[in-house]
Amino acid sequence: MKNSDLKKVALVGTGFVGMSFAYALLNSGECDQLVLIDINKVKAHGESMDLNHGLPFAKRNMLIFDGEFCDCCDADIVVICAGVNQKEGESRIELLNRNYEVFKSIIDPVIKSGFNGIFLVATNPVDIMTKITLELSGFESSKVIGSGTTLDTARLRYLLGDYFKIDPRNIHAYVIGEHGDSEIIPWSQAYVTTKRIYDIIDSSNGKFKFEDLYNISKNVTGAAQEIISAKNATYYGIGMALVRIVRAIFGDEKSALTVSVMLNGQYGVTDVYAGLPAIIGRNGVEDIIVLDLKENERTAFINSCNFLKETAEQIDF
Ligand code: NAD
Repeated sequence: MKNSDLKKVALVGTGFVGMSFAYALLNSGECDQLVLIDINKVKAHGESMDLNHGLPFAKRNMLIFDGEFCDCCDADIVVICAGVNQKEGESRIELLNRNYEVFKSIIDPVIKSGFNGIFLVATNPVDIMTKITLELSGFESSKVIGSGTTLDTARLRYLLGDYFKIDPRNIHAYVIGEHGDSEIIPWSQAYVTTKRIYDIIDSSNGKFKFEDLYNISKNVTGAAQEIISAKNATYYGIGMALVRIVRAIFGDEKSALTVSVMLNGQYGVTDVYAGLPAIIGRNGVEDIIVLDLKENERTAFINSCNFLKETAEQIDF
């Protein structure tokens, strides 16, 4: 029987992303127990040994072990970073169908274990894989969250912090929509501390320029590809983004994070998972913040959602 005060995370998928998350989680000390699950049991075992050897240097003790799906029974959060990689000549849809099969092999045994917590999905295409998790689990949408555009928002804040020479944590700007090519930055909603970025540029006597915002948005959307060209994969940023979401859940923080959430009428969109600022607490998604978007931003967001909807409809359910 689980001590209800113990915070337990089950990680499915111990690849680059999963282990970057696990390492960041160990360093942040955000939970009491972490179980590592992977189809490659030898890898999961090696990873648990390696993390355990860091415990004497960690800021707190944790129980870390490699396990089975039945170990999800008393987990508070199941984080899914498992997936297959694109084969040569394989289309996005073929990849999506294979990842759908991977998720069937994961969600079913997790549910059979008796798991009754919150799913947090990072596997790409994350918005669609989160919707698949919702459908396979039958959970309420508040308990099924995708990492969405949390990483893209972090990239945006980092770049804006660098541009305006201010701590990125004092930048209030969001990337919304698909975690992918159709994502958008609603600049009308972007602030440095309490000042609108548009107003800062207007009154800067040419020190800051509107065209620089265009370059920053290109850098945000192109970041993943640039990193993949340089080192084949991206993982540290997403690992830390996942820890941030886990902290908001365990701490019942009511933090606004741009996770992938199920839209139920916001902007006239239904039945789609997409990145939007949402209030995250112990119950998962507690509210979705509706932004006061300009007409062009609203249209771009709806187009992004339509793209996600059309892509999801091509899966062989
Ligand atoms: P990886 O290949 O290193 O790891 C995938 C892991 O999944 C492997 O250990 C593999 O054995 C495991 N796996 C495969 N099938 C499984 C199954 N049926 N059951 C259990 N485990 C299984 O890949 P990665 O670099 O860690 O990336 C993982 C996912 O994260 C990818 O889909 C990637 O696109 C995505 N990603 C998302 C973001 C984001 O912002 N959401 C950012 C970067 C990467």
